[in-house]
Amino acid sequence: MIASDVVRLLKTSHKIALISHIMPDGDTLGSSLALALTLRQKGKEVVCLCSDPIPKSYAFLPGADVIRRPIHSDADITTVLAIDCSDRERLGDCNNIFSKATYTVNIDHHISNTSYAHYNMVDTTAAATAELIYQLIRLTGANIEKQVATCLYTGIVTDTGRFSYDNTTSVTHEIAGDLINCGVDTNWLNDELFNKRSLQRTRLLAKALDTIQVCGGGSIAFIKVDMAMLRAVGADDADCDGLVNYARDIDTAEVGLLFKEMDNGRIKVSLRSKNHVDVNAIAAKFNGGGHKKASGCTIAASMDEAIEMVLKELESIMKAAEV
Ligand code: 5GP
Ligand code: MN
Ligand code: MN
Repeated sequence: MIASDVVRLLKTSHKIALISHIMPDGDTLGSSLALALTLRQKGKEVVCLCSDPIPKSYAFLPGADVIRRPIHSDADITTVLAIDCSDRERLGDCNNIFSKATYTVNIDHHISNTSYAHYNMVDTTAAATAELIYQLIRLTGANIEKQVATCLYTGIVTDTGRFSYDNTTSVTHEIAGDLINCGVDTNWLNDELFNKRSLQRTRLLAKALDTIQVCGGGSIAFIKVDMAMLRAVGADDADCDGLVNYARDIDTAEVGLLFKEMDNGRIKVSLRSKNHVDVNAIAAKFNGGGHKKASGCTIAASMDEAIEMVLKELESIMKAAEV
């Protein structure tokens, strides 16, 4: 499905729900908020939904305060868009609303996307879903105001690791440049997104770094975070964002992993690779997904079991490829 079809659908819809994925990040939130602001300006009634709470670090985004969990009456909304969600599981408790909608749209850039909606606008060459939302908004002819530009820039700058990952293209920079022309205060925004760190988060970083281990002759590095560590410093799940990069960035490592115990006892795994290893394929073995060099999954096992399972898969793939 092409963008103009989505624009046509949105034009004829009056009440619209935008769904962000579970454990929301800058791309799913920035994209949803930018589209919501634009559609509201056009007189549409728009709700932004998310199964999980919004991390404190994204509370500054315009409109973040009205993102909420789904409620019973949302089931009447006929047009529902899933934003940056690679599969139905990523919708969490918003699945019910998605199932009941007359028109469903899936706007995403993950290689693992399962094309689960009536209309699937999936472009795996886009660095962020925010790039696709930018194109949609430009197609509507709407003016991109500072607040909208700030939300879109957030999606792009977070999903590209500040324009450093290889998903970053000249198009990414062109869009970012246009957004700066629309008024984004990049100095302030980068500070909000990447530099500000609560005391709790800083203390968690110290504890997490202390757990780093390597295996496979240094080619795999991993970090463990359990609930006791989070409780000890008063940190939460969202404070673990970005920790996996410290494992990946070790000079000898091809793959970096973060194993994080969640409050339901399951283990959330974040996987990152530098060059050759397709971590999306590893995550897929545990019903997860993502991108070739950044993926995730959740495993119902103890911390030690989860580590053993993932390392076993990884080591066999890396041995076969002689990485
Ligand atoms: P993170 O490790 O930062 O949570 O996620 C890295 C990438 O993998 C993101 O693009 C995210 O959307 C994707 N991802 C993380 N966890 C899951 C999961 O459980 N299922 C799927 N399909 N994708 C995931
Ligand atoms: Mn995302
Ligand atoms: Mn994304």
